[in-house]
Amino acid sequence: MAVKKKACKNCGALVDNDVNVCPVCKNNQFSTNWRGRIVILDVEKSKLAKMLNVKKEGEYAIKK
Ligand SMILES: [Zn+2]
Repeated sequence: MAVKKKACKNCGALVDNDVNVCPVCKNNQFSTNWRGRIVILDVEKSKLAKMLNVKKEGEYAIKK
């Protein structure tokens, strides 16, 4: 079973439940009600990254 993750309320980055500070934007507020998971492999080439205003590679929630 997959480990339950939470989404940063600011940038949407998905982190493990025991993480307290977002590694992307240093925000400390998280949502556990997120939906839709996307993986950004290359922020320069990904249209989704631009749409979601993602600046760093990683896993993100679409709705947070
Ligand atoms: Zn964040």
